[in-house]
Amino acid sequence: WCTGCGNFGIWNALKKALAESGLAPHQVMLISGIGCGSKLPDYTTANGYMSIHGRTLAVATGARLANYELKVICTHGDGDGYGEGGNHFLHSARRNIGIVDIVQNNRVYGLTKGQYSPTSPAGFMTKTSPQGAIEEAFNPLAIALAAGAAFISRSWSGDIAHLTWVIKEALKHRGYALVDVLQPCVSFNRMYSYDWIRPRVYKVQDEPGYDPGDKAAAFVKAEEWGERIPIGILYRVEGRPTYEEQVPALQAGALVKQPLRIKAAEEYEALKQEYI
Ligand code: SF4
Repeated sequence: WCTGCGNFGIWNALKKALAESGLAPHQVMLISGIGCGSKLPDYTTANGYMSIHGRTLAVATGARLANYELKVICTHGDGDGYGEGGNHFLHSARRNIGIVDIVQNNRVYGLTKGQYSPTSPAGFMTKTSPQGAIEEAFNPLAIALAAGAAFISRSWSGDIAHLTWVIKEALKHRGYALVDVLQPCVSFNRMYSYDWIRPRVYKVQDEPGYDPGDKAAAFVKAEEWGERIPIGILYRVEGRPTYEEQVPALQAGALVKQPLRIKAAEEYEALKQEYI
């Protein structure tokens, strides 16, 4: 990572959140995709798996189904999570599978040296968009809300204490939890710098009367962007059953702890003989 990259703040906050939550490295599975932020699992001692571009949530879903006793956490960028992985994002949110999805949102493709990403605003100029990006920016918080996510949050990498708290709350949530993290890319996105973000962010939990259980209010906050940017837990509803809890094959326990079903293997061999 480049000196000054916002990923250092995310890395620190995640380690603090795991330690303060009492989670040991063997109890955690970090899954990433491709991008600068996706290198994060390599820089920890927890279980880690770097998957392919945009498939972070799909691989995390597989890990969670194989062993729901593991705390499964995704760390990937806005390109990986909202661009190539956009469809997995929608369906993980509505499925409510137990994944903490940390998206390192620097609003640019950093690893490939600065192309505009799904969260770059229209008009954003890069080497590959010298006249400005044409598309409007993707709003991950509003989309997660519309898709049915029950935990939606935002923080930023320049406030490690706040980001640590948000990640700890996401770790406590049962089901899919989105943690969108505003992260300066000091090399390829000079527009969204620390000095641009710092004076704009404010904590929704400090707003008198803000109710994170109010979906309509959360939509209003999710749409707020510009001179004021809300951070914190914008939406949280507890008690929704998780996907894993409803999968019949997992009723007998985590798949990795279930005995091998010999009968199923015999049935498979018989079918193979019949059809192959
Ligand atoms: Fe961080 Fe940007 Fe450097 Fe990637 S290119 S390591 S996101 S500062």
